[in-house]
Amino acid sequence: MAIKIDYKKCCWKDGKCSSCSCGGACVGCVEACPVQAITREKLVKIDLKKCISCGACVEACKHKALKLV
Ligand code: SF4
Ligand code: SF4
Repeated sequence: MAIKIDYKKCCWKDGKCSSCSCGGACVGCVEACPVQAITREKLVKIDLKKCISCGACVEACKHKALKLV
């Protein structure tokens, strides 16, 4: 299983949150990851070499932008 991100659903765009209604929830994936595989730059980046496919970020993402496939 590998983590995939749907950039259309992710509210983090061009280095900032683009959703007035998310209330800061867009940091959820970064904070949830136990191995610090997720960083936010212009877009969310996931280091697949670090990812252990735990699914914590999938649960944390309020926008359902992440999934394990
Ligand atoms: S929690 Fe979801 S919407 Fe927010 S930055 Fe992470 S992937 Fe994007
Ligand atoms: S599946 Fe787990 S290890 Fe992989 S990016 Fe998400 S929280 Fe991090």
